[in-house]
Amino acid sequence: MTGRIDVSSAEVTASDRRAVLGVLKTGRLAMGPVVAAFERACARVAGLPHGVAVSSGTAGLHALVRAFGIGHGDEVITTPYSFVASANCALFEHARVRFVDIDPVTWNLDTSQLEAAVSRKTRALLPVHVFGLPYDHAGVSRVARRHGLPVIEDACEALGASWHGKPAGSLGAAAVFAFYPNKQVTTGEGGMIVTRSRRVAAFCRSVVNQGRGDGGFLEHVRLGANYRLDEMSAALGVSQMSRLASILKRRAAVATRYASLLRDIPGVTLPAEVPGLVRSWFVYVVRLDEAFDRDAVSRAMAREGIQTRPYFPPIHLQPFYRERFGFRPGMFPVAEAVGRSTIALPFHTLLGRSDQERVARALRKVLSKGTQG
Ligand SMILES: *Cc1c(COP(=O)(O)O)cnc(C)c1O
Repeated sequence: MTGRIDVSSAEVTASDRRAVLGVLKTGRLAMGPVVAAFERACARVAGLPHGVAVSSGTAGLHALVRAFGIGHGDEVITTPYSFVASANCALFEHARVRFVDIDPVTWNLDTSQLEAAVSRKTRALLPVHVFGLPYDHAGVSRVARRHGLPVIEDACEALGASWHGKPAGSLGAAAVFAFYPNKQVTTGEGGMIVTRSRRVAAFCRSVVNQGRGDGGFLEHVRLGANYRLDEMSAALGVSQMSRLASILKRRAAVATRYASLLRDIPGVTLPAEVPGLVRSWFVYVVRLDEAFDRDAVSRAMAREGIQTRPYFPPIHLQPFYRERFGFRPGMFPVAEAVGRSTIALPFHTLLGRSDQERVARALRKVLSKGTQG
């Protein structure tokens, strides 16, 4: 056996390094032209006029919650099967989160349950393109239109995805992409708000920049945070975005290879493919038959030198959410069943065939030994 195969790994090329060093040489390290160039590059991918760079995806979601005036006494609807930031962003402003269970095939929000979750307090729908697969936007926008609600798209996992030809990030009133090192494109830490609304863009630009308005550097017209991205991070982002098509193509090729290697392993369900939806490959998550103990499988894979992750433990069952809001197992049964049985396999842009064969061999072996629940 050779070395450990990590669950993710960022591709950083020589030109990425040159781009970051180039910024360091100019001496302009913050609030400069490279951030602006990164904003344009990300907005272009979504086909939108405005991008506002931020220091993380979470910061971007928080800024949008502020931009839509969501606060105490309000409710935001989202999915429990996501990264915790999708829900936390509402809590920061003392709003409530109402979860809607997920579809057992796509693992995205089950939009047939959405209408029933809307109340007089609902102020926004916050669907997530989970694992880069676009959510059912027809179902979301039907409910949004009926109730006059904005759609805040958590597109943090979906840079480059599309829903019936429309880019993820362009479907709602505003969206956020994220650039943590396991994402398709990385800036180390970072995020990007994209929107077609001049008002939302201007508000976000202010609120992530200490509440500055059009006045001077020391004039603050609203309560703002410092959620800015710096020039070095933006340089890495611009450099990576310049090869986005290649990154997405290579990730899709890795996913296709996995599908052929894993297809015939009994008890393994591959990521869903939905006609009309183009997934941007963020992670490669498979579902194990409920007869298997996912965590035992994960430990056995680790013994084979292969790192995996239990993506996603449902948000409502996180200790903080249980304690603060009284969520209990059984409330969102599909998200819980999926959350118990899904496992992220090693996946990144540079993952090669021989490593993937090793992953597949190990999974086949581990599952054949019957790591039963
Ligand atoms: C990555 C991610 C975020 C943002 O994460 P940060 O670490 O704050 O950049 C938000 N939502 C989802 C679904 C994500 O996967």
